[in-house]
Amino acid sequence: AKFFNNVPQGECLEIFSIGPNCKKDPSPHKADLCVAGSFITEEGDLWVFPVVQKVEKEIAAGGIDCKGYLPALGLEEFTTGAVKLALGAESKAFCEKRFVGVQTLSGTGALRVTAEFLAKVLNLNTFYVSAPTWENHHRIFLAGGFKHKREYRYWNAETRSLDFNGMIQDLQEAPENSVVILQTVAHNPTGVDPTPVQWKEIGRVCKDRNLFPVFDCVRQGFVTDLQTDAWNMRCFADELGLEIAICQSFAKNLALYNERVGNATIVTQDTSSVYKIKSQMTLIVRGNYSNPPAHGARIAAKILNDPDNFEQLADNLKIVRCRVTEMRTKLYDKLVELGTPGDWSHVKSQLGIFVYSGMTPPQVDYLRTKYHLYMFRSCHINVCTLNSKNLDYVATAIHDANP
Ligand code: PMP
Repeated sequence: AKFFNNVPQGECLEIFSIGPNCKKDPSPHKADLCVAGSFITEEGDLWVFPVVQKVEKEIAAGGIDCKGYLPALGLEEFTTGAVKLALGAESKAFCEKRFVGVQTLSGTGALRVTAEFLAKVLNLNTFYVSAPTWENHHRIFLAGGFKHKREYRYWNAETRSLDFNGMIQDLQEAPENSVVILQTVAHNPTGVDPTPVQWKEIGRVCKDRNLFPVFDCVRQGFVTDLQTDAWNMRCFADELGLEIAICQSFAKNLALYNERVGNATIVTQDTSSVYKIKSQMTLIVRGNYSNPPAHGARIAAKILNDPDNFEQLADNLKIVRCRVTEMRTKLYDKLVELGTPGDWSHVKSQLGIFVYSGMTPPQVDYLRTKYHLYMFRSCHINVCTLNSKNLDYVATAIHDANP
C-alpha cells in the first residue's frame, strides 16, 4: 500500500519563507527586515551575549559536559532561577514556594506544555489571544487540546495604539474559565503594551470574571530592565492574588535561540497542589519528549543564579535596548526629514524590536518587488535589521510606498 500519496500540501509559513526568499534575491540592495525577530547587530550579525560566551567557556573548561538525562521537569537550579526572574526574589508566591517550574523547549514548548496541562488536566477549552498576536499562539493551543480560539481587541489601526476599552469589553464578555494569553512586554507584533494602571484593570477583570491569565514572557529586559519588565506578572500573582501561568523564553533575552531554553511556571494559591501539578506535568512531558536538553539550561542557570553574571546580563541587555532605541529614532528622523506623509511617531513610541508600521499588504508587496525589502505582510519589521548602511535606503523606500 502507498500511504503517502494523499498527503495534502501544508500551509507555507511566512516566517520560514522570508529569509530564504531574500537569500535567493540577486539584488545588492535586498534586506531581510524580519530575521525571525532576533537581535541583530549594526554589522548585521546575530549577537552571542558576552556573558553567555564567558559562561560557555567556563562550562567547557570544567571538562566534558555530563550527557546524562535530566529529570522530566528539567534542571532544578534553572527552573528556580527562571521563576525567580519572573516573580522576583521577594515575591510572596516565590518565597512561599507556591509555584511549579518546568524546563521546556523554549517559549513555544512552555506554551505547549501549559496548554496541554490546562486543556487535559483542568478541562479548560477556550483561549483568547490579542488581535493581532504572534501567529503561532493558536496553533500551539489548538494542538495542546483547546477547542475554541477567540480574540480580544488590542490594536486600534486608526489611532495606531492600544484599543484598551475594546480589550476590556471583550474580556468582560469572555465565558468564565477562559484562558487569556497576555504578552508580558514588548508585544509581538504591535510593540504596544498596556500601562501599569491598565494592567491592573486587566487583572481585575480576570479575577472578577474567573479568567485564567497565561503570560507569554519572551522579551523580559527588552523595554525597561529585567525587573521592571516583570511588573505585571508580579502584580497579578502577589498584589491581586491570582493563579497564573508564565511561559518564559530565553531565546531573546539570553539570545539562546537554538538552545531551546524555556520555562513553564504555574503559580498556585496554596502549596498543597504543587506536588499534584508536578506529577501531571511529568506525565505531559514524558508523553511528549520525555525530558529536556541540558546545555542551554546550564548556561542560563549559571547566569540567573550568579549575581555577577546576572549583572553582566543586565549590561548586555542595556546594549540591546540602546540599539533598538537608536534605530527607532533614526528611522523616525529620516522619515520626518523626507517629509513622508502621515504621523510616524509610533515608530519611536512602540516598544521592543518590532515596528508595527501601519502599512498595508500591497505596500509590503511594493517594497519587496521594487526595493527588494522583505517584511511580514502584517506590516511589522524588526528594527534591529536596520543599520547605518541600509537605513537611508529603507526609509526612502518606505517614503516612496507612502505617497
Ligand atoms: N511568544 C512570542 C510572542 C514570540 O514572539 C516568540 C518567538 N518569536 C515565542 C513566543 C516563542 O519563541 P521561542 O520558542 O523561540 O522561545
